[in-house]
Amino acid sequence: MVDQAAGSDAGRPAATGGEEHAFSAEVGRLLDLVVHALYSEREIFLRELVANAADATDRRRFEALTDAAQALPEGAKVRIEPDKDARRLTISDDGAGMSKDELARNLGTIARSGTRAFGEELAKHKPEERSGLIGQFGVGFYAAFMVAEHVDVVSRRAGTDEAWRWSSDGKGSFTLSPATREQPGTDIILYMKEDADEFLDAWRLEAIVRKWADHIAWPITIHSDGE
Ligand code: ADP
Ligand code: MG
Repeated sequence: MVDQAAGSDAGRPAATGGEEHAFSAEVGRLLDLVVHALYSEREIFLRELVANAADATDRRRFEALTDAAQALPEGAKVRIEPDKDARRLTISDDGAGMSKDELARNLGTIARSGTRAFGEELAKHKPEERSGLIGQFGVGFYAAFMVAEHVDVVSRRAGTDEAWRWSSDGKGSFTLSPATREQPGTDIILYMKEDADEFLDAWRLEAIVRKWADHIAWPITIHSDGE
């Protein structure tokens, strides 16, 4: 029997029966708001993911001051890798990474006041007023679901050799399963929506990075096969 979801799962590693966790109710609400309210400015998903990658790299550098096991590798940077054939966009960093618990906590609940406040403000504003709010609040990781139908996060906490995969279609739950990663850091892997092709184009990505991520202190590279 062929089920309908099978097509959209193409190219994604088969689910390995990871543990399923429900998003907190607040996250579910925020996801809905972000995905539906900010449609006209979808490109800001990249600003948010690059900012997170840079923050994580800063965090690792800071933690390495008191814990040599976390030392940053030479040439630490943020990598953006579009793959048109696989319809997949990966944003990778050499940052602090996340443990299994941190993945569940940071990407499954809303602990940060900024994100919660954003959700509350969005709900209060009419759609045509919402775009102005983007500048006032970091909408964060969940902005990935504006362009991706499925997101995998593979992360290895610096100073450990364990990696985990967080996986979700942004609809109520996420799964956590064991993974492998050669080095500490994080890969945010976006399986793009049908109508988000433009974000697999290296030139388009470069323009977005220039516009929104010019101030980032770490090198950012955009690399696509065949270009
Ligand atoms: P904010 O960046 O405002 O805290 P986000 O929604 O962007 O909110 O991210 C939520 C949290 O997830 C971050 O605070 C961080 O702890 C974690 N996180 C997100 N992306 C990464 C990453 N690339 N590496 C490590 N941790 C990350
Ligand atoms: Mg952020």
